Amino acid sequence: MGKLKLSDRQLYALIEAIKLGEEVKPSQGAKRRAFARYKIDGWENSKLTGIFYSIQRRLGLIDEVIEELVGVSPLILDPWLRATLRVAIEVAVFRDPSERTRQHLKGLAQFLSRKTHPYVGYYYYDLLPRVLEYVPVIDTEEKRLKWDYLFPEWFIGKVRELVGDEAEDLLRALNETLPTSIRVNLLKSSVGEVEDYLMKKDVRFERSTRVETIIRILDPFNPEWLLNKGYAIAQEEAAAVASLVLSPKPGETVVDLAAAPGGKTSHMAELMNNEGKIYAFDVDKARIKRMNEVLRRTGVEIAETIRADGRRAPAMLGEEIADRVMLDAPCTSDGTIAKNPELRWRLREKNIPRVVKLQRKLIESAWRLLRPGGRMLYSTCSMFREENEGVVEWFLKGHPDARLVPLEGPYDGGFLPGTMRAWPHRHKTIGFFYALIEKGQ
Ligand code: SAM
Repeated sequence: MGKLKLSDRQLYALIEAIKLGEEVKPSQGAKRRAFARYKIDGWENSKLTGIFYSIQRRLGLIDEVIEELVGVSPLILDPWLRATLRVAIEVAVFRDPSERTRQHLKGLAQFLSRKTHPYVGYYYYDLLPRVLEYVPVIDTEEKRLKWDYLFPEWFIGKVRELVGDEAEDLLRALNETLPTSIRVNLLKSSVGEVEDYLMKKDVRFERSTRVETIIRILDPFNPEWLLNKGYAIAQEEAAAVASLVLSPKPGETVVDLAAAPGGKTSHMAELMNNEGKIYAFDVDKARIKRMNEVLRRTGVEIAETIRADGRRAPAMLGEEIADRVMLDAPCTSDGTIAKNPELRWRLREKNIPRVVKLQRKLIESAWRLLRPGGRMLYSTCSMFREENEGVVEWFLKGHPDARLVPLEGPYDGGFLPGTMRAWPHRHKTIGFFYALIEKGQ
């Protein structure tokens, strides 16, 4: 492989994407926005996208290098300096830059001065020679694992517990970049129309074999137009399967207890042919705003969005009022690491029990909303047993009138018979868990 060549403009685009990625989640959206600003397209886009994701995957390691060099946590540095150092370390330590590119890295001092204060630029300029000469010392097994797999050690241990011999395959899958996945919105368009559009744009794509409205875009292409028109919505196959498993019917009353940004609400409205009622709860104001926008674009007419804690839903709506309840529970989201590569460095094992506590409260709330004979889906995009089978087993113990409706596919059985799991390494999608529960008549 030749030496890595990056122009000033390409370096600026990367730095802005990394900086914006701290605020905009998933970071894919930040990358799209920053790259559009610098008119990064075509082959340039695929090259820089690769570098962007590799920075996200390595973020914990890169930050350790920064800490070693500057003596303080990168988190307390100026955000522009932090982003510039992250890019410079990726390029200089983890890759093999051309002489010209090394010069461009020096030139970033001026970029930083413009963006922040000349002092920051000087500081960077002073530090850069040490970045360019940095050689990592990998002297412990713990360090080796971290550098090979780019995951915190506790996480690697947990993955081993989950899938044993498949651990390496799973870690590798989490390190792969998933293609952009969209779900065609049948309320406004059809699979044929969306495929025609992509063909006209000369973009390679494939249709999912498990969900007929899911299309994966295989080339670097921004489907913004389809999303803005509401003809499609960004969604992973495993997320689309959740609404199909719950399978709400036209005319039913549905509660979506953790609904924003509305991926599943809009899918359920489509399955209900825009007939019936969906109460869509979420606590997060900004996410509710996004959900309102998504529902408007996708032409959903039957959803009422409610900014409130899902634990209060039975008190607000009444008990046993819903034919179906979707509980796509807040979770650690570790199943989505391929989509949010930097997430692995933010996960904390000690946070799991707190998330589980909320999940238990919400599943109880979902149950109270459900009418006898009704069904609820408990799903998460976490792979940890505590958040999945653990919550469901705990719940079933307390409710003899609850019955697991066995799920037969399209993915594999979970660790509790009747539940289902999508696995990144087996199914080429995000990690996901499903348990369909019915209330006795
Ligand atoms: N179902 C959504 C979709 O398909 O687009 C994704 C939901 S996301 C996995 C979980 C959501 O739960 C987040 O939007 C978060 O704001 C929300 N949340 C967290 N705590 C909550 C609570 N106590 N009540 C209701 N929503 C909550």
